[in-house]
Amino acid sequence: MKKIGPNERGSKEGTFTCRACGFTVTPEGAGTRHRNHCPRCLCSLHLDVEPGDRAADCGGTMEPIAVWVRRGGEWALIHRCRVCGALSANRIAADDDPVKLLGLALRPVASPPFPVERIEELSRLLDKEWRNG
Ligand SMILES: [Zn+2]
Ligand SMILES: [Zn+2]
Repeated sequence: MKKIGPNERGSKEGTFTCRACGFTVTPEGAGTRHRNHCPRCLCSLHLDVEPGDRAADCGGTMEPIAVWVRRGGEWALIHRCRVCGALSANRIAADDDPVKLLGLALRPVASPPFPVERIEELSRLLDKEWRNG
């Protein structure tokens, strides 16, 4: 896979073809400049080490595994990379599939979809994400 250099960042930001479902994802309708996942299947790609830096060499498909609700009611998606297991937190976009989001949100808390031992890591990640945003 072609590595995206930092200089290309922002040139066509937000437009990509979803590798998981083939949907052409455009920035329109997202309500954010930070769209990095597919609004139809909510999958993302493992491209970033820090949000937006495109520094990850992995390129694996990142599946949505949970929805996280912050103070004020803002929702975030938790993605986990199928290849390396990395976790990442991303704000939802305005046109993300609400049925898929609700399905994730309503998963029983009795069986967390992410490894419980990594909750601290998740918390740090989310705090960082929100400070950056
Ligand atoms: Zn998709
Ligand atoms: Zn990965």
